[in-house]
Amino acid sequence: MTTPSTPTTTPRRTEVLAKLMRILSLTEERELSCPEAFLLVDYYTELEMEGENVHGLMPRVAHHLHLCGECFEEYVAVRRLLSIQIEDETED
Ligand SMILES: [Zn+2]
Repeated sequence: MTTPSTPTTTPRRTEVLAKLMRILSLTEERELSCPEAFLLVDYYTELEMEGENVHGLMPRVAHHLHLCGECFEEYVAVRRLLSIQIEDETED
């Protein structure tokens, strides 16, 4: 039996995404609470920095960030942290 050289998948990432999507579907009928938004903001920011359309994927998180200064601050902090990491990675 031959083993095709499939690109390394990250199942854990998919698990996290599934979990987040479940949270999002549970909150479909109402606004996100701050703890929920807080859980999602890391992932939201990461996706955004990868060039994903986060407003389409996670509109509720985007909406919450517009309304909530505290979570927006967390978002800014995560974004700063991620951009530092990206700079480190691209450094020669
Ligand atoms: Zn909030």
